Amino acid sequence: MIPLTLQIAAEADKAFVTRLRTDSGQLQDEMDSLLLADDEGGTVFAGHRGLISIDGFNGEELAGDVLLVEPEMGRAERLLRSQSAHNTLLVTERCDQLCVMCSQPPKKTHVDRFDHFKDACLLAEADSVIGISGGEPTLYKAELLDLVETVLTRRPDLTFHILTNAQHFGHEDIAKLRAPLYDRVAWGIPLYSSVPAVHDFIVGKQGAFQRLHASLGALLQAGARIELRTVLMSSNLADLPALSQYVAARLRFIETWSVMQLENIGFAKNRWSELFVDHSRQFDPIGKAVDHALLHGIDIRLFNFPRCSVPASYRALAPASISDWKRKYQPACAPCSERDLCSGFFEWHPDDEAGTKVTPL
Ligand code: SF4
Repeated sequence: MIPLTLQIAAEADKAFVTRLRTDSGQLQDEMDSLLLADDEGGTVFAGHRGLISIDGFNGEELAGDVLLVEPEMGRAERLLRSQSAHNTLLVTERCDQLCVMCSQPPKKTHVDRFDHFKDACLLAEADSVIGISGGEPTLYKAELLDLVETVLTRRPDLTFHILTNAQHFGHEDIAKLRAPLYDRVAWGIPLYSSVPAVHDFIVGKQGAFQRLHASLGALLQAGARIELRTVLMSSNLADLPALSQYVAARLRFIETWSVMQLENIGFAKNRWSELFVDHSRQFDPIGKAVDHALLHGIDIRLFNFPRCSVPASYRALAPASISDWKRKYQPACAPCSERDLCSGFFEWHPDDEAGTKVTPL
């Protein structure tokens, strides 16, 4: 797994954001830090807040990364890795839902780091897509939209993809979200079933289905770009064809629909046998949902489905969706000709289960 947290020592007394540069010719911003020296134990950079010593890496390995340096904690977070297309900012750990399979179980506390995230985004690589997730980002909607607008105004090359439970949009947001810069924002919104009670049960909140639709109405009127997301579980597998009919009939305005395999982490870890669907054995409802969606012009994709576990005629819909830092392959994948196209498995996926599924293509 690619480490996202670094052990550091820094001269500064407060947290700050910096971008690491290895060549003085690359210095573009006062927040850049320049490589001073590598040694056996790590590397040292110098910047506007003084020296930063980083353990276990050489300078080139971190070149271009944007860090949030927290001297008091002795650590730095790699907020934006320059070599990655999968950078996501976790803006809060609070949430007002309690999904049965939540991969990032919510916390009660919130640390406001929006100003740091703003600084980081302004230092992002050109043409980046920056993910935002939580917790629930729209619990801090004013701060979130301020971040988006500040960054996109100053960086017209950037795009955001924001995960939200869509419990907090309303009529009052429409005018703001109609602004042209929101064309560069896509909202990833979960819908788990066409049956309100099933959706509400999965997200652990009564009335969530209804509130989500109120938000979708506002987002529709604002012309927002929406990625619908459905995590596959034993509790919604049978409803997937009906959900596809519902999406095709009622939610045609979405940009894309992602049907996603479960992650063995967070709440799902201890409920794995209860929740996990072996799609290689139970593909029929998934296939029916995909067929109906495609027939009605809905762009549908299968996320986190290893390609060899999907019937050949659906394989093109299964991209390499798992972020690079948490993706793994099985030893048996080595000769596979489609490895670069394949999601592989989450780092925490049980190997005994994954190992039996792999059939190199
Ligand atoms: S063999 Fe491995 S890399 Fe190839 S499709 Fe299967 S899981 Fe993916």
